[in-house]
Amino acid sequence: MQAAGTRRRGRSHAGDSTGDVSPAEAIASEVERRLAQSRQAYLDALPIAAAIVSIAGSETLVECANEHFRFIAEWDERIGDRRASHVPILRSGPIGARLADFIESDDPAYQFETADGRSIAGRHFTVRFSRLKHAKGQPRRLLVSLIDRTAQVETEKSLRSEMLRDSLTGLPNRFAFNERVDAVLADPSFSEGSFAVLAIDMTRFSRVNECMGAMAGDELLITFARRLVSALRPTDMLARTSGDEFGVLMRLERGLSDALRAAERIKTVLTLPFRLSELEIRVDCAIGCAVLSPGVNSADEVLRNAQFALKRAKRLGTTQVYEPIQAAAVRRRFSIETELRCAIEADALTLAYQPLIDLDSGRVAGFEALARWSHDGDAIPPAEFIPVAEESGLIVPLGRWALNTAMRTLSEWDRAAGAVLPFNMSVNLSPIQISRDDIAATVVGALASAGISGDRLTLELTESAIIQDPDRVAKALNALKKSQVRIAMDDFGTGFTSLAMLQKLPIDLLKIDQTFVGGMMAADDSTAIVRAILSLARALGMATTAEGIDSEDLAEMLTELGCTYGQGYHFSAPLPPEEALVFGLSRNA
Ligand code: C2E
Ligand code: MG
Ligand code: MG
Repeated sequence: MQAAGTRRRGRSHAGDSTGDVSPAEAIASEVERRLAQSRQAYLDALPIAAAIVSIAGSETLVECANEHFRFIAEWDERIGDRRASHVPILRSGPIGARLADFIESDDPAYQFETADGRSIAGRHFTVRFSRLKHAKGQPRRLLVSLIDRTAQVETEKSLRSEMLRDSLTGLPNRFAFNERVDAVLADPSFSEGSFAVLAIDMTRFSRVNECMGAMAGDELLITFARRLVSALRPTDMLARTSGDEFGVLMRLERGLSDALRAAERIKTVLTLPFRLSELEIRVDCAIGCAVLSPGVNSADEVLRNAQFALKRAKRLGTTQVYEPIQAAAVRRRFSIETELRCAIEADALTLAYQPLIDLDSGRVAGFEALARWSHDGDAIPPAEFIPVAEESGLIVPLGRWALNTAMRTLSEWDRAAGAVLPFNMSVNLSPIQISRDDIAATVVGALASAGISGDRLTLELTESAIIQDPDRVAKALNALKKSQVRIAMDDFGTGFTSLAMLQKLPIDLLKIDQTFVGGMMAADDSTAIVRAILSLARALGMATTAEGIDSEDLAEMLTELGCTYGQGYHFSAPLPPEEALVFGLSRNA
């Protein structure tokens, strides 16, 4: 194709014979014609839509274009106007605006992605403007090229929608859910308390899956999802966030009560039984709720909060709303676990020794070794770190360490005194140690390496250990008895050990829990309970220790009642090893 100006000159050239055109002009015109031809040939050879646009003064003209361009631009210079302002694709929309800017600029090239909104389907292009070499006396030219990316964009879109969908239920999946929650959080108009997330867990799903097979499990999930949809408003977003867990993102019109009402509706639609093949089964769910607040940073965090409430809902049987305090407690537990692990490895724990007094003679009969941990200058109480150690399994190394350290201390005391001291050492034993450690072997090892005879060691075990697995405990205790070790039942009276169990197990000593001992001064039933425990112990041939004696009166009362040993602040608080030894030696002197 030829440019308009070229054609006009071409005609003049054809009329050269009239003699009104100089030879120089004729040559220039011929050169220009050939150049135009080669530009056209170049465009025609391109596999993409392209046009050369020339700018002369305020006029922008499409000088030549290839067939792809004409098709996309829905324009043909052979019938239409060449002025860019008459070529729809170049006149308006994102391409038109950017072309005008580019012409004004000095940039050598500019490329961008755009969707052409004019056609219904909306096509996607990569558009590039590049300036062509500018010859003196010639108009400025630029190449406009368009790569049609519609097919690619469509494929990406459908791939993306596949990626965001749960293939079983057809619901959005966790990615999609998180994307929406993140969008809500990022929305500048978002305000505290305007959205909530529900985490819904189908109870007993794994049982159904196990008993009836994966096919039935799938069917159940699909039906369950349908029921959930029926309980929600069209504006709520339901997603399958994991195996048998679903998430709902909902706008709260009237505050938290909207979310709780939705939870109630969900529970109601689940009351009807589910039909699975031939069977009818009942399915329930647990629901945890978290309200979106500007304090949370990501969808992941929101979902975690809702799952946290869900965990509690499973335990308590009712819908629970997440409260940040619980999460703070969990975080603290977690950081305690990490730091405790380091402390054990770095041997940074210590033991304090609390004297055990023979109430009849007033002499020190022994000590209870109690773990102590200071972290960054703060003393963390055993009531806080022992449960974390038990939950994380760290109690096994901690327990071994306590046993070895206490035995070593006792042998150091003997060495310092130059004699085998008449002190017994009590070490606490966690039920977890019984279930996870070969406790008999650990004890034998600790005694042997410190050179302490078994009859100087008492292991204190709480009642809960016995209730959890009585057979295992019986086996472990019987094995321990072979080393002559004494067994004490700690905090007695707070658990539920049956009398039969007490009789069956090789227990030497009952430690009466502080709550009863402390209660003896108040006029409640504690004294009667303590009396009963003492006579029970006597009948079973066991010794007794009263814990938590913090006054002279209490010490006297318990001595009169015939309690064997006493322990408490009245005698002494737990002491560092050197002070404990001094206390023991001077009191017994
Ligand atoms: P426990 O075995 O019943 O130990 C007695 C607790 O009562 C100790 O608390 C002791 O300091 C405290 N106590 C002593 N006299 C008095 C008193 O007159 N009044 C009051 N109110 N309390 C008194 P502590 O040291 O905080 O230990 C708490 C619990 O942590 C222990 O209770 C024991 O169950 C556990 N524990 C401590 N160290 C270890 C350990 O090495 N291994 C295991 N498994 N548990 C341990
Ligand atoms: Mg104890
Ligand atoms: Mg106790």
